[in-house]
Amino acid sequence: MKKVVVLGGGIGGIEAAIFLRKYKFDVEVISDRDYFYIYPISIWIPTKEKKFQDVIIPIKDLANAHGFKFTQDKVLKVDRDSFTLEKAGERKDFDYLVVALGQDKLKHKGIEYTYSICGNPNETLKYAEKLDQLVKKGHGKLAFGFGGNPKAKEAVRGGPVFELLFNVDYYLRKLKIRENFELIFFAPMPKPGERLGENALKMMDMMFKKLNIKSYTGKKITEFTQDGILLEDGTKIESDLTCFVPAGDGHPAVKSGNLPQTEAGFIVVELTNQVKGVENVYAVGDSCSLEGPDWKAKQGHLAEVMARNTAYNIALKEGLEKGNPKTYIEHINILCLMDMGNGGGLAYRDNKRALLLPLPIIGHWMKKGWGLYYKLSKLGKIPRLPGM
Ligand SMILES: Cc1cc2nc3c(=O)[nH]c(=O)nc-3n(C[C@H](O)[C@H](O)[C@H](O)COP(=O)(O)OP(=O)(O)OC[C@H]3O[C@@H](n4cnc5c(N)ncnc54)[C@H](O)[C@@H]3O)c2cc1C
Repeated sequence: MKKVVVLGGGIGGIEAAIFLRKYKFDVEVISDRDYFYIYPISIWIPTKEKKFQDVIIPIKDLANAHGFKFTQDKVLKVDRDSFTLEKAGERKDFDYLVVALGQDKLKHKGIEYTYSICGNPNETLKYAEKLDQLVKKGHGKLAFGFGGNPKAKEAVRGGPVFELLFNVDYYLRKLKIRENFELIFFAPMPKPGERLGENALKMMDMMFKKLNIKSYTGKKITEFTQDGILLEDGTKIESDLTCFVPAGDGHPAVKSGNLPQTEAGFIVVELTNQVKGVENVYAVGDSCSLEGPDWKAKQGHLAEVMARNTAYNIALKEGLEKGNPKTYIEHINILCLMDMGNGGGLAYRDNKRALLLPLPIIGHWMKKGWGLYYKLSKLGKIPRLPGM
């Protein structure tokens, strides 16, 4: 059977491996972490609703369940006909390569004074520790923000920041110390979250007022400091703890190699996820560039569609499927169950609609239920629901 190497053991990489195995390909997943990290439910680590162990699946368990090989190593470079690993060096032993390395983040001045919940999971753990210290102290200023990438607008990640902000607000209210904390939201764009539509913006504004969250938007960030954030107009937002999610940037291993890539370093793919002009290399998820409408966003569910399509399209090339190649473009939508600690909102956007449906109480439990379903179904312990 043909050998497929998947680089990256995240949402896209694991889905690709699972579906490639359904066609009985010889599959090897190479990733730097030995666990699969479920980002959407990691937002609850700082507020102690989930422990680190609850939001991971050891990749060896997934490998055993689906019959693929797992190698832990760091990818340093990806080229058209080879890839280079930190420990094992250059390798060319594949018939097909699937790149699913996720993305890097833009580096802002003073970024070391901030914590992102969207990058290395260790940062979320450090953020949780710092939040704990302030809670024990009993008071503080907490800032939450995200940035943009003018070279790749679809790489902005704001949803998890709103989720963390609302969850921390609720957590402090439960502890009856919310009035001792100042909660601040900041973003350089004038209308952060606007791709979810006007109603979502209005609702966010209403929530900020109701929960007494200060907001600074529309001003560029000049620098982060130990005690706050400096804006272009000279404003200083004071903060004891800053969660900041910079916009995504191309992965360093991609930037170091010779795959076709955008100015920002995202791999240029066909709608079938085959890398443009490279017959046997595919890229899925946050690593690749995205076609589509202005409001498009890189999301986990799209990474999974791309991964399943890639498995199918490789099988098609190998004569194991009949029909036309599958493309991701018709699956571009924004689907997010935005959690607020004591409820949530279902945000949905496609070419025809943009809606945010408030789901008090039940929204929170739906997302918790999804997390459980996700873990068990990935391990093959319960059946997958179509499209999920
Ligand atoms: C906090 C948070 C909440 C989110 N919530 C949602 C949501 O509710 N709904 C939704 O649809 N999307 C959500 N997303 C977006 C979603 O998680 C991403 O779009 C998705 O993870 C992208 O999958 P990926 O496989 O491309 O990248 P990742 O999941 O980031 O996986 C990349 C993998 O590559 C590995 N890797 C990276 N560099 C190297 C290297 N040099 N060598 C070897 N391995 C490497 C990493 O360890 C990781 O396993 C959320 C994201 C975050 C951060």
